[in-house]
Order: sequence, then C-alpha cells, then structure tokens
Amino acid sequence: MTALVQAALRVRRTARSAWGLAAGFVLAAFLVAGFFVPGSRALGWGHIAWLCGWMALLAHRGRQARLYGADPKAAFELGVLLIVGAQALVQLRGGVESELHPLMFVAVAFVASFAEGWAGIGVTAFAAVLALGVGRLAEHIADPLRLGANAFFILCFGFLSHAFTRAEIARVRRKSELELAAQQDKIRNDMRLFRLVAPSSDGVRDEERLYQTSVQEVRQALYHALQLLHRTLDLHTCVLLMPTDEPERLEIAELVTKSDDIADGPLCLGAGAVGAAVRRKLTTNLQQIRPGYQGICYYRGPAMVRSFIAVPVLDRGNLRAVLCADRVADRPFSPEEEELLRDSTSHILRAFENERVFMALETSKREQEILYRASQALSTARTQDAVMEVALAAAEEIAPHDFAAITEYQPEDRRHIVRRAVGDRALELQGLRFRDNTSLTAMVVKNRHYLPYRGDFDSKQQVLFTKKAKLRGMESLLVLPLVSREEPIGTLIVAAKSRGVFGASIRETLRALANQVGVALASARAVRQLEEMATTDGLTGCLNKRAFLEQMEQKLMAAQRFGRKLSLIVTDLDHFKAVNDTYGHAAGDRVLQELGRVLTRVKRETDLVARFGGEEFCVLCEETDARGARLLAERVREELAHAEVPTDLGPLKVTASLGVATFPDHASNAEQLFAQGDKALYEAKRRGRNQVCTA
Ligand code: GH3
Ligand code: MG
Ligand code: MG
Repeated sequence: MTALVQAALRVRRTARSAWGLAAGFVLAAFLVAGFFVPGSRALGWGHIAWLCGWMALLAHRGRQARLYGADPKAAFELGVLLIVGAQALVQLRGGVESELHPLMFVAVAFVASFAEGWAGIGVTAFAAVLALGVGRLAEHIADPLRLGANAFFILCFGFLSHAFTRAEIARVRRKSELELAAQQDKIRNDMRLFRLVAPSSDGVRDEERLYQTSVQEVRQALYHALQLLHRTLDLHTCVLLMPTDEPERLEIAELVTKSDDIADGPLCLGAGAVGAAVRRKLTTNLQQIRPGYQGICYYRGPAMVRSFIAVPVLDRGNLRAVLCADRVADRPFSPEEEELLRDSTSHILRAFENERVFMALETSKREQEILYRASQALSTARTQDAVMEVALAAAEEIAPHDFAAITEYQPEDRRHIVRRAVGDRALELQGLRFRDNTSLTAMVVKNRHYLPYRGDFDSKQQVLFTKKAKLRGMESLLVLPLVSREEPIGTLIVAAKSRGVFGASIRETLRALANQVGVALASARAVRQLEEMATTDGLTGCLNKRAFLEQMEQKLMAAQRFGRKLSLIVTDLDHFKAVNDTYGHAAGDRVLQELGRVLTRVKRETDLVARFGGEEFCVLCEETDARGARLLAERVREELAHAEVPTDLGPLKVTASLGVATFPDHASNAEQLFAQGDKALYEAKRRGRNQVCTA
C-alpha cells in the first residue's frame, strides 16, 4: 500500500518538474510543422498566441529556477526554451537563408557557456536536432550537405564555447584556490611559530597571539567537521551559527556552501526555522520546503532548498551554537542523518572546550611566571626607586599600556604625589602633588579597591588626578591600591588608548602584583627612614655627630693623600641659655632649626654640616684653605644675624660665634683640628661674640 502511495507521489513529483520541458517540446513541434514559415501563413493571431505562450513559459520557469537554484535540469529546460524562441525568430525572417540565421549560433554559444553541468551539451544537441527537423520538414531542404552543415556548425559552436568556458572557469578557480591556500598556510604557520618561539617577556602581545592561534585552531577543527558533513550528506550549505552579544542575533562561525547568496554580518534570528531551533533548543527538521521560503536566515534572498535541519549545540543546557544543514534535492534528512549531525555537535563542543582550557592554562602559567619573577625582583629591591622600577616593568609585562604611574599617599598632610610616571605625558605628570580630592586616585586610596569598574575609563566624567592634569585619549584605566598592613600607601596606575584592554584575568594579575608592590614599597620606605634616623639629627635634618665623624675620617685621608686643604668651622650660638630662658625651649629649638637652614644653604655640595648636640654645629669644607673657610663662616654669621625667628613675644634675632681651623696648617689629625677650632671659637667669644676667629 505504502509502496503504491510512494510510487504515485514520485509520478506526481516527476510530472510537476517535467511539464515545463514538455511544453517547450510542444512549442518546438510547431516550428518543425512549419508554423512560422513565411508565405505559408502571414503573422496572425496564432503566431501571437504562440509567442505569448513562449514568453509566459520562459518567465515562469525562469522564476522557478531562480528560487531552486540553477540545477542542470532547470538549465536544460530554460536553454531549450531559448533555442526554440531563437529558431522562431529565424523562421519568421525566412529561415536558413535569412540575415537572422546566425542568431542560432549565438543562442547555442550563450547557453553552452552558462548552463550548469550537462545542460550545455544537452541544449547544443537539441538545437542541432531542431535545426535538422525544421530544415527538412518546414523549409523542405532536400540537400543533405546543406542540412548537415547547419547542424554541424551549431554543434561546433556549442561544444567549443562549452569547453572554452569550463576551462576558463577551472583555471580562475584553481588560481584563486591556490592563492587562498597559500595565504591561509602563511597565517597558520606564522601563528603556530609565534606561539612556539614567542619570548615570554613579550607580555600580552604574546597573549593576543595565543588567542589568535586558539581561534585559528577552533576554526580549523570546525571547518573540517563541516566539510565532512557537507560531503557525506550531500548538502547545499552546512553552517555553524553562534549567538552574538546582542539578543536575537547570530553570526556565522564557520561555513561550507555551494551557494553564493549567503548573507553577511550579524543575522536576525527572526521567526523562521533557525529561530525556532534556537529558542526551543530542539532539533528542527523541515522537508518539502515551498519555493521562496524566507525562514532560513543565512540566505540573503528566499531559500532555494527543499530540506533543512537545525541542531542546537548545547553545553550543560546552555546554547553555544546552532548547526544548520540544507539540501537542494527534495530528500528529507533521515533519522540516521539527524543522529550524525547531533554527534558532530559534541565534536564541536569539545573543540571549543579544549581551546578554552588550553588558553586558560597557558595564560595562568605565564601570569604566574611574571608574578614570580616580579616578586623575586621586588624582594631584592632595597630602595623605593628600585621597587617602583620593578613594579612598572612587571605591569608592562602583564598588560601593555600607554601610560603607567605610581602615586604615594602622605597621610600626615593628606596629599598624593605622582612618584613615578612612564608613557604619555609622563614628564608633565611626574612629581605632581594634589590634595585629597574626588579623583579616582584619592577614591582608591580611601576605599582600597581598584577603580574604575571593569577598567573602562570615561575621561569626560572621571578624573584621574586633578581636573587640570588630564590624561587624554585613554579608553582603559586601572587604579589599584597599594596597601601595607591595612594602611593605604599609594596607587599603581595603568592606562591604555584602546578600550576593554584590562579584562578580568589581567585585573586579577595586576591586583596580585599591586599587593606585592605595596608591601615592598612600605618596607623600602621603612629602611630609608631607619637609615636616615641613624645618620641625621632629628631636629635640624643635618648629619649627626657619629655620621659626621665617620665621613670626616675619609675626607681627611683623601686630603692627606692628595695634599689638599680641609677646613673645619665650629659654631656656637651666643647667649643661647638666655634665649631659652626668655622665649622658652620651643623657640630655642626653632632658632636651632634656623641655624641648620642657614648652614645648609651656605655650604657647598661637597661640604658636610652636622649638629654636634646642644647648640653647637660643625661644617667641614673640602679643598678649602683658612681664608676661604673664614669667608664662608663670615657669610653664615651675617645671614644668621639678619634672620628673624618668630616667637610669642615677637620676632627674635640671634647671633653666633665661629672658629675656623685648617688641615694641615693648624693640625695634622682630626682631634687636633677640633681642638684648634674650639680654641678659635673661644677666642671669638672672648672678643665679644658675633664674630669669626681663625686658629
Ligand atoms: P655663650 O654665648 O657663651 O655660648 O652662652 P650660652 O648661653 O650659649 O652658653 P652655652 O653655649 O654654654 O649654653 C648652652 C645652652 O644651650 C644650654 C641649653 O640651655 C641650650 N641648649 C642645649 N641644647 C639645646 C636644645 O636642644 N634645645 C634648646 N632649646 N636649647 C638647648
Ligand atoms: Mg655651647
Ligand atoms: Mg652658646
């Protein structure tokens, strides 16, 4: 019973596709019967009816062929109609003898060049047979040579243009395929090579390459899978579509097709077959699709396929992609074929997964390496400068950027200082000081959490340091807090001109780096403070006695070796006890600070100034004889005499007495030099103070 129904259906289907051809042959029969031979009948209604029928048939079959694609059968049918039309015109003008006769050759050549597959040959043969038939039966040509020559030339035209066109198409196709293959090979090889040989110091450019290679590898796996399906299932198109960030939109991830009508750009899901598969996450299998069906979104125009199937690619219930396949032939996708397609989606998923895991492994391995190297370098960096250098170098490795900086926060006066800056406008911004404002830097110090959210910078709305000190043209920014023992000590800043540069993984790595840098900076700062405490006097910032004596030892040795002079100036404030008694100890301290400032200002770069305890200061002048030292001492005396120290009881003026002694003129060692200096100072006091005496 079912066999009977199937047979009936097949007959119907054949009848439906063959009637156009049959109609073409009927029109041809009119020609052979001499319907168009002039003289036998003038152009009348019959001819007009024939021509109208011919045009209607051509238009209808042409549209069908456009919808279903130009398969050889349709091309043959259209070719037959064209030849019949051309022959009718030739007949109207007088047959073989007419000036229009070459039109037959043109028509044959045209069809033979453009028809698909065997259709060109078929049409040529039909044209030759038609020419013979019309010549013999309609025009009554008896000479077999004349008849044969006409048919022979038609055959020649047809075969030659068929062969020539095929050869040309094959040549062009081969050439472009070779070019394409060479190009792809080059890119693939480059990428592989780069991944293998990329130096690890190359930072994230390396990651970009890694990413490209991974994409390439997924692509290749997908392409092979699709190609295999395309070949084994005799598909017209096999395409993998993936959802984009926008809702209801898909893009073509990979494609193997015979069609040249594939839509480009993001595809709208729409209400059709693809949309149904995506929304319901179920396989959609369509058969006997009517011509002109619009529901297959990857075709630009109406679909010209008869069978279609869409299989969703699901990853733990989430839609990752949808695999679509279609056929021009009216052969529905069988359950076995459906199973095969479903199987291949798991291959596709595995390709995605492999590359993702591989990339995550590679990336984290490299990031850990960078962090490890940075922490090694940070642990050996003694000074703040060295720590900042290591920090910025590591940040560059982790995330390539156009600007980077490190700021320091000083809680005592609530100010931020840009300690180090590299990249765009670095010179202008380095050393910038600003108050605790509403800038990103200040907010990060306050909240101890990185900003801006996701690393996207809006330079119109957000301020990095101050409104004046702008960071121009940056689209990505990350300000990370530097923290030590829960105390914010500053920030690490990276900025880039491109958008979305600081992704989640980079942000995490930079945070880990910032944590290490915070600790390293704090300890470098503590070391510096300890060192300063050990060598300087807390009140005046001058050297302390121990440091002065140490350095004096070296300078004395050098002076001895090179035969140079070295002078010592000993200073003592006049009636300082009385200052303390009258104005208070705090005012006395301020006087000491003022003397320290005067001495530091007046001395040369190579001279040493120290507070020896109490109100006594010493200056050691290299390569200076007694006369030069005396001049210097005189300047100190004058400047101090003119300085005013503000106190509660009004401005205070003080004077000092100074003694000068010179090596080797007055002494041959340090002890003697101090003794001689003290002696000269005593002399100055004795003579009435506020003066300089030389040993
Ligand atoms: P003279 O002109 O003879 O030097 O008189 P004088 O009062 O300055 O005498 P002397 O140099 O002996 O006095 C030292 C005084 O310096 C004693 C003490 O009151 C004061 N002094 C020492 N160390 C400090 C200090 O750290 N701060 C303050 N404010 N005063 C100090
Ligand atoms: Mg004294
Ligand atoms: Mg004194």
